Amino acid sequence: MKKTFTLFLMLLAIVQLAIAQTHKCRQPSVIQNRIAGLPGYEAAIAKTFDTARNNSFQKANSRSKQVFTVPVVVHVVYNTGVQNISDELIHSQIDVLNKDFQRLNSDAGDARALFQEVAGNAEIQFVLADTNPEGNPTTGITRTETDVETFMDVAISFESIFSATDSCGVDLADPATLSCIMEQILGGALEDGAEENGSLPMDNVKSSAKGGKDPWNTERYINLWVCNLNMNFQGQEIPAVMGFAYPPTEAPYWPEGAIPTNIKAVDGVVVHHEAFGVDNPNAGQVGGLFNRGRTCTHEMGHYFGLRHISGDGDCDSDDGITDTPSEVASQSAGDPANQPSCEELHSLDTCPADDLPDMYENFMSYNPEACQNLFTKEQVGIIRAMLEGPRSGLILQQLTNTHSTELDQALTIFPNPTNGQLNIQLIGYDLKEFDVNIQNIMGQEVLSIPATKAIDMSTLEAGVYLVRLGNDKFSTTRKVSVL
Ligand SMILES: [Zn+2]
Repeated sequence: MKKTFTLFLMLLAIVQLAIAQTHKCRQPSVIQNRIAGLPGYEAAIAKTFDTARNNSFQKANSRSKQVFTVPVVVHVVYNTGVQNISDELIHSQIDVLNKDFQRLNSDAGDARALFQEVAGNAEIQFVLADTNPEGNPTTGITRTETDVETFMDVAISFESIFSATDSCGVDLADPATLSCIMEQILGGALEDGAEENGSLPMDNVKSSAKGGKDPWNTERYINLWVCNLNMNFQGQEIPAVMGFAYPPTEAPYWPEGAIPTNIKAVDGVVVHHEAFGVDNPNAGQVGGLFNRGRTCTHEMGHYFGLRHISGDGDCDSDDGITDTPSEVASQSAGDPANQPSCEELHSLDTCPADDLPDMYENFMSYNPEACQNLFTKEQVGIIRAMLEGPRSGLILQQLTNTHSTELDQALTIFPNPTNGQLNIQLIGYDLKEFDVNIQNIMGQEVLSIPATKAIDMSTLEAGVYLVRLGNDKFSTTRKVSVL
């Protein structure tokens, strides 16, 4: 019995140590889980990045330099008073996003000289939504009390710990071993908890029926859920996950099952309430590590298609872009007892072959928030390409006003309002090179066809629709009323 108890304590120590090594987000586990289970998933990731990169390079010169404004709704889902974070904390987080995505952060100048020249400005302005999906005024904040104690509701068995130490080793002083153990334990637990549609246990926070809060139209708003993501292990609250987000996934080449089939119900960003905002009074629970609001900046980077700059592997892994140096993800950054200073990170070069030191300044690294201060220009290219592509629902009105001005001028759509038939006249372009996509006002696609001179809208219910004429190079959108 005594031996069993000692074993129990030892295992508990392993788990706590492993979890203490944890970093901001679960993206690697999510991705690894899908790569393992879905042939073609990895290739789809690669292709998405190729496309984004090409888009961003193609458009680099013609791209408007305007700042795009995106509406955000923050859903606070709380089980205790502490989790019901203040409006002030929420505003501080929005402020951080705006500074980090417009390179207005006060620590921008801290980036080392050799990286200053690749630092980019994503030119995105985040605003709390002032109109809800029903068209009513709102603060852009919802508050939902829940019975759910934690949304990181996954089971960790002793068997999984044994199995992890079997394959990773037991040298707990070695950060790589600890990281390996953690990935196996958490990755396995997430896999076990995943639903058939591919959504994760933490996605329950996005469902009113499961104790969370249903999203607002995920194509029109960035939904940002704040909730408890502590893991309960043998009665102990362990901060295991600071946040996660799904990447944009509308590209046609994603294999079936690559993303949750209910992606429109789960798209958005989730952040642990202890890691949200600036100087969060509960940041101490996670060693005070996540008190600058950069967890949310990082997750928003994923939401706009960025990967970790390490590529979540060794020096041969990559994030698919060229102006971030190779690195092996830092192992110590999440350990409160072993926080390197930014100065100590100066000399860090986990992949010496590429002749640049590790870019600890990057928001998509795992390094301490205090040392992070930039996205690179290519990362910004991807963010902008995603915003003007799969995430364009967020800025549709702004795109209509400013994007593809020439196409816009060449296009005539009539009659509007229409009883059913919509005529399309396009001067100076070949209509055959375009598609027509029609969305209802809730952002649901109701029609997607190759462009022709006459579009039949008679099957649609009366109402207002967004008719987009475009191809992969440019597009323009009109509002059309069906009587
Ligand atoms: Zn991440």
